[in-house]
Amino acid sequence: MFDNPAFDEHERVLFCRDPETGLSAIIAIHSTALGPAAGGVRQWSYASDEAAIYDVLRLSQGMSYKNAMAGLRFGGGKAVIVEHDGFASSDALYARFGEFVDTLNGAYITAEDVGMTPAIMQTIATRTRYVTGLPAADGKAGGDPSPKTARGVMCGIGAAVRHRLGRDGVNGLRVAVQGVGNVGYNLCKELAQSGARLFVADIDRDRVQRACEDFGAEAVELDDVLFMDVDVVAPCALGAVLNRGSIPRLRAKVVAGGANNQLETADDGRRLADAGILYAPDYVINGGGIINVACEYYGDVDDAGVMALVEEIGPRLTGIFREADQRGEPTNIVADAQARRLIAAAGSAKASSE
Ligand code: NAD
Repeated sequence: MFDNPAFDEHERVLFCRDPETGLSAIIAIHSTALGPAAGGVRQWSYASDEAAIYDVLRLSQGMSYKNAMAGLRFGGGKAVIVEHDGFASSDALYARFGEFVDTLNGAYITAEDVGMTPAIMQTIATRTRYVTGLPAADGKAGGDPSPKTARGVMCGIGAAVRHRLGRDGVNGLRVAVQGVGNVGYNLCKELAQSGARLFVADIDRDRVQRACEDFGAEAVELDDVLFMDVDVVAPCALGAVLNRGSIPRLRAKVVAGGANNQLETADDGRRLADAGILYAPDYVINGGGIINVACEYYGDVDDAGVMALVEEIGPRLTGIFREADQRGEPTNIVADAQARRLIAAAGSAKASSE
């Protein structure tokens, strides 16, 4: 565990087991320097327990960086519910997970991730108040974070095309979107409204058709979408799509999308920079959803206030792009360093006040 490359000085890791409901879960708390560790719970069938541990640690560290860069009073954490042999989801299982979350007394705040729904969040909420992603009352922060994530990605694309292409807005630009699910669909809506020409691909044909009908997008092959002759590529599906194999084939000058963990390795940031491609670091550009979650949790900002905070993603990325130019470093390295500085400064301030 402590030698795991993803461990990175996690503060706490809780292994949760309940034979009665069949729950096996891991809650990882990377850092509480900036506030309670916030990050979603993912339900997944892992190849091994080691794979589950690696995933939760990596995601939890990523949440520390994402929350810090979004300017939130949140540290980073994440949870996984492991779908082992014979696993069956039930309200009792999710309620039990909620009880485990509650034992942490607010050090970890859960939310939706892969495999979760607002209904499950409501079940978890029967046992703990440290849960977000619940349906929102009118005008209040909360509910489905995807439109906010898409808005943030739109702002980030705006910043990136200004920086790399010298363009004000996306009107007339060609944008390829990989994955038109919750985030991708909402992003296509924003892009279409702003006059971009869209090329979309998704393994779900119905979703492709919906994007084509609603926004006049052109459907392209799954294997081609990243390599289209376009101005911007927006990965909004899977992680690790930017790698040693794919980067030399990219033709866009900007990669800016909502998917998490787009780079297969940190070195792929250097590969993109060397190829003259501006990469908007994923955890900065896709922070709109967690901003929504933070405002829901703290209850101090309404929906319009959430949007104003999400709009700050554009200028934040411009700052990263400029610093990357000045230092001659890839944008992902600059963002990582900024995030680590914010977390370290908060950690020192916390230690000296104790
Ligand atoms: P989603 O499941 O609604 O959409 C993902 C889409 O990608 C689906 O339509 C799926 O069919 C498609 N897809 C899967 N494999 C594909 C492939 N090989 N090629 C093309 N399409 C493929 O999920 P989402 O909530 O839209 O999230 C998309 C990405 O954004 C994920 O990486 C997620 O972690 C990240 N993200 C989401 C949010 C949010 O608010 N939902 C916030 C931050 C980051």
